[in-house]
Amino acid sequence: MKARTRFAPSPTGFMHIGNLRTAIFEYLVAKHNGGEFILRIEDTDQNRKVEGAIDFIYNTLNLCNIKIDEGPNNAGEYGPYIQSERLDIYKKYAEELVEKGDAYYCFCTEETLEAMRQKCDARKVPFMYDGRCSHLSKEEIAEKLKNGEKYVIRQKMPKYGTSIVHDIVYGDVKVDNKVLEDQILLKSDGYPTYNFANVIDDHLMHITHVIRGNEYLSQTPKYNLLYEAFGWEAPQYIHVPMVLGSDGNKLSKRNGDASFMDLYNEGYLPSAIVNYLVLLGWSPDTNQELYTMDELIKHFDEKRISKSPATYDIKKLQWFNHKYINTLSDEEYLKFIRPFLTLDVSDKTEEWINKLLLIYKDHLSFGKEINDLVGIFFNDDITISKENEEFLNSDDAIPIVINAYREEIEKLTEWNTDALSEVINKVKEKTGVKGKLLYMPIRIKISGVEHGPELPDELYLIGKDKVLKRLS
Ligand code: GLU
Repeated sequence: MKARTRFAPSPTGFMHIGNLRTAIFEYLVAKHNGGEFILRIEDTDQNRKVEGAIDFIYNTLNLCNIKIDEGPNNAGEYGPYIQSERLDIYKKYAEELVEKGDAYYCFCTEETLEAMRQKCDARKVPFMYDGRCSHLSKEEIAEKLKNGEKYVIRQKMPKYGTSIVHDIVYGDVKVDNKVLEDQILLKSDGYPTYNFANVIDDHLMHITHVIRGNEYLSQTPKYNLLYEAFGWEAPQYIHVPMVLGSDGNKLSKRNGDASFMDLYNEGYLPSAIVNYLVLLGWSPDTNQELYTMDELIKHFDEKRISKSPATYDIKKLQWFNHKYINTLSDEEYLKFIRPFLTLDVSDKTEEWINKLLLIYKDHLSFGKEINDLVGIFFNDDITISKENEEFLNSDDAIPIVINAYREEIEKLTEWNTDALSEVINKVKEKTGVKGKLLYMPIRIKISGVEHGPELPDELYLIGKDKVLKRLS
């Protein structure tokens, strides 16, 4: 069956990685089944609306190589794709339900509802609208409408029996109809609730698979009652478990970089983020870990989405990012990494900068990290730890080796890595010292630490003046 899926974010100007993972799953289900991926903007809560948020969503999906077939900026047959532009559609369908007897006008005022709430509180039962307006006569309703009384439209729930929905991840979900509230479908300002709009839109947009966070699972039987009332076929449901932070709590800004843009701005590649996220709660039938989008499309199977919550692990994401940085060509890599280097390079040549950046291609976990890794080439002063100081005094050969380096380096007329490799060979010949004693003392003297890039590269980047100063 050809699938049609939709990603339905609210335009908040923020893309939580849990939402992005849902978008990826939707995209993969659509494309695995040769179908379409639709973007629908759910802006019925106008208070949460943020200027420019739609562009932000387009930009994010585009960076992630997720192509939108239909959406606000991609005309399709079933638009508009922004809910606030579909108010007349919701009104029409809500009225149709009233007509059929599956919904009713409710004129209860805030005060009436408050009194009802207090009664429930006193009885220590959860608040539930008591359905009183469902008993209004045709004449009473006509009169109230004529007088311009404010109203909402509520769904009339069955009072007995059970409703069952089937979910691909969670199996059958049953609810007792008598616990279902006569929920509001259309608010008094003419806006639909999510609970109504999602059904109308998913049906009219011919959505075959609804993929969303499992917080909607318990509500889904209500949606199916709406499909039944209209005589429509319900879509297949795929509710996905939450993404938790490493502290076991729901992922939020507090327990990590939970937004795509934060990660992107830190220097995580979108391809790595996508690869990491898709494996968060979904397991492929191979041991492969790195996937192109085409491979994901080929392998994706919604039946392998797990019910248990997934834990977001930045270290694992860094591992993926490191791998993806490594797959970039040198040219792509330099283009990617250059903007992250924020240290002062005004006195350096392009050649020097590129050499520096390329040396760290194999070591980087994320873009911004470059500044920490290359610090030794920018600091004027270096600090040598007590342990390293002790090492420098631990062997009589060390001052001899250092002296030999200084002499050979002073003689150099050209400053490049070939000449510096030659220097190392000469020091080795001259002193008869090799291995750790040949490399470590000079590394420590010039950088303060015992590890770094290849010694000729390290010497080259630190520069002749600084090297000589630190050796003397
Ligand atoms: N607008 C809803 C949200 O952002 C979408 C849920 C759904 O996909 O149906 O959570």
